[in-house]
Amino acid sequence: MSTSDVGAPIVFRGGTVVTMDDAHTVLPGGDVLVVDGLIAAVGQSLDVPEGTREIDASDGIVMPGMVDTHRHMWQTAMRGYGADWTLTQYFVWYYLEHGSKFRPEDVRAGNLLSAWDALEAGVTTTVDWSHGLQTVEHAEAAADALEAVPGRFVLAYGNIQAGPWEWTADPDVQAFLERRARASDRFDVQLAFDVTGDPAFPEKAAFEVARELGLPVSTHAGVWGATNDDGIRLMHENGFATPETVYVHAATLSPDSYYRIAASGGSVSVSTESEQSAGQGYPPTWQLRKYGIPVSMSMDTSVWWSSDLFSAMRSTLGADRSREHMEAHAKGDTVTHHRLRAEQVVEWATRGGAEVLGRSDIGSLEPGKQADVVLIKNDASPVSFPMLNPYGQIAFQAQRGDVHTVLVGGTVVKEDHRLVGVDLADVRRQIDATVDHLRSTLGEEVWVQGMNPDLPDDELFDNPYQYTDYAADTTPGE
Ligand SMILES: [Zn+2]
Repeated sequence: MSTSDVGAPIVFRGGTVVTMDDAHTVLPGGDVLVVDGLIAAVGQSLDVPEGTREIDASDGIVMPGMVDTHRHMWQTAMRGYGADWTLTQYFVWYYLEHGSKFRPEDVRAGNLLSAWDALEAGVTTTVDWSHGLQTVEHAEAAADALEAVPGRFVLAYGNIQAGPWEWTADPDVQAFLERRARASDRFDVQLAFDVTGDPAFPEKAAFEVARELGLPVSTHAGVWGATNDDGIRLMHENGFATPETVYVHAATLSPDSYYRIAASGGSVSVSTESEQSAGQGYPPTWQLRKYGIPVSMSMDTSVWWSSDLFSAMRSTLGADRSREHMEAHAKGDTVTHHRLRAEQVVEWATRGGAEVLGRSDIGSLEPGKQADVVLIKNDASPVSFPMLNPYGQIAFQAQRGDVHTVLVGGTVVKEDHRLVGVDLADVRRQIDATVDHLRSTLGEEVWVQGMNPDLPDDELFDNPYQYTDYAADTTPGE
């Protein structure tokens, strides 16, 4: 983008600056100066050029924009629909029965909504794990939506309606990828497909296309009942487990797979809210830490879950610590010191994601880096003080409503708690049209049934304390 889009220099004044530089410097009463889309200086009482716009960051936290490495943005068109789903119900709905009913305009609508949703929550870079691209028209719609929103996006091209060896062989798909790859510092592409573990390794052809086009591959790995150790072994043995490979979830895997991922320099995108409720396996950070595997964070899909990384940080700390306590208790031990710290999940949510994407120019607040900046500040909130522990404040206290200002490459995309330049009414019209289309195509009964899965018949345990029919006068229900 040209510097004319960026406007006057901006300085955040007097905030707690969480830089996420190598030393993890935290600067109380700090300033961040942004000039020409880049961070020009970080320090206290900075001198700034004439005409610099000042943003009062006092009582707030200034931190790098967050990075989400796996989000099925098209599914945001069905926000909350699958709140009570299991992974099986998700697969049946999208993969087997209804995913093919999404038209290009439906993918566009979901992506538009999801892209603004990300920015609003301080997520300045998002990998769109876009596995609903049945045709190149769908892909154009997905990409156009992302390019219309002033964030950074990576379209990870996927298509669950065909084998990856089929759709990657399509010359039109390849032409699209070549045309859109490295389009700008705000838009890039990858490939997104899963490896089933079939000994014939049919996915090999898709990996070869990725290699030919110079594109990284993101893959759902270690997903209970879907992908397992065989997929990792096949990738590794065939030379396709590379440092830029992102393994999503990596929850149900043996030590052998974790060793292979670690040795090949790959990383794992952890979607803790997802793993906790869908059934991929236990959220794996407690394992990944042991094997030294780099971690980034993601929200997966808003058909179930929230779409902000505050929730991701919070649930990841909870799951990791919960696991450590359970393992200790099983041995009669007590965990007296937590290994996973708030500081670590803040790193995973910022520079962790940047590193996974090979973006050394984002993920921290340092001179020369892209000015992707988030100000967390909410003077009206009793949760905003005292500000004693900035990492604890970000990971356990803050939420998307506290995101006051967001910059992407120096452009203000959220200001005073409101998105800038968005026509939400128009996005809502597009989403409404998609919901109407799906609802009428499926029929009301199927639509309602899909949102309300049957409850299994569970037998109640025979409670040994219910050994008498005696009921006191006060017992209700008599
Ligand atoms: Zn996913």
